[in-house]
Amino acid sequence: MALRLYVFHLFHKFKMLVLITLCFVVLWATFSYFVDSRQEISKARSLVQDFRKLISLEDSKKEEKVELIAKVPTVTPFQDFCPELSPYLRGASKLTFKASLTLEEVQKENPQVTKGRYHPTECSALQRVAIIIPHRNREKHLLYLLQHLHPFLQRQQLDYGIYVVHQAGSTKFNRAKLLNVGYLEALKEANWDCFIFHDVDLVPENDLNIYMCDTQPKHLVVGRNNTGYRLRYPGYFGGVTALTRDQFTRVNGFSNSYWGWGGEDDDLRIRVEMQKMKVVRPSAEVARYTMIFHKRDQGNEENAERMKLLGQVSRTWKTDGLNSCSYKLLSVEHNPLYVNITVDFSMQPKIS
Ligand code: BGC
Repeated sequence: MALRLYVFHLFHKFKMLVLITLCFVVLWATFSYFVDSRQEISKARSLVQDFRKLISLEDSKKEEKVELIAKVPTVTPFQDFCPELSPYLRGASKLTFKASLTLEEVQKENPQVTKGRYHPTECSALQRVAIIIPHRNREKHLLYLLQHLHPFLQRQQLDYGIYVVHQAGSTKFNRAKLLNVGYLEALKEANWDCFIFHDVDLVPENDLNIYMCDTQPKHLVVGRNNTGYRLRYPGYFGGVTALTRDQFTRVNGFSNSYWGWGGEDDDLRIRVEMQKMKVVRPSAEVARYTMIFHKRDQGNEENAERMKLLGQVSRTWKTDGLNSCSYKLLSVEHNPLYVNITVDFSMQPKIS
């Protein structure tokens, strides 16, 4: 009996020992859990703080960057390119030529144009296009062209500039040389991608006739009202043409030797073909122009030499062109609607 009592007592003590040990284990586990948690929390806190520091550092760097970009006025950061086909296009328009039209009226109608230049603000234009217009004594034609061309180009969402190249003095008119001057002077102002060589008396009728350059030299006048809207002859390359900087330099620009009317556009086509390029044209439905009526100007009589010159292109193109275009620059005025370049060619040999 005493033995049984002794064993029972021993077993009870053992149970108590196990219970106390268990309590210690639980207490220890709880304690270490809290200590660990506190450490984790402080680790997490310092992590968050580090992250915040990093973010604020990045933000201040970004602000610096934005400030830098803001200092360069023409660059709009992260702007999308304009679509291939502008949503503002209307297709064919009925052109009107009001006799009483003034330059001030055209200026008022084009408030976003400054110094002859415009670029869309809603997107980044696909091409920077310089329009080069040779000119002498055709003020009214120029006014009508500006009136129609500015809204036309804006509807096409182009980054563009209009350069009017005026030939001073009484030397015979030289359209091609004026176009070479326009190209060279325009490039002094901006890095144009595309050049549109444009007669002053031709007004485009349809804004689907896109004033952008192509992979090949482009002829934009398929038809005119005074020729029944038909191409004059298969090789016709006159009136309005579009060439990239690369295409134009490859042919050494226009010849400088065509004084008076005719031939210079055919010469350019020969140069293009000699460089294994191919003239492309938009469809006849869209490449339509209205020619503002005029008589043959004094000082721009038909060039009797033109057939002879055309027969020599393969021999002359390398030395007669952009690389030999000398002229006396009289002035460059930045008018609200166009840049007016005035040149003098009187020191050049005059062919009568
Ligand atoms: C002339 C070109 C002119 C064309 C259309 C040709 O005979 O050589 O310069 O553009 O006629 O008038």
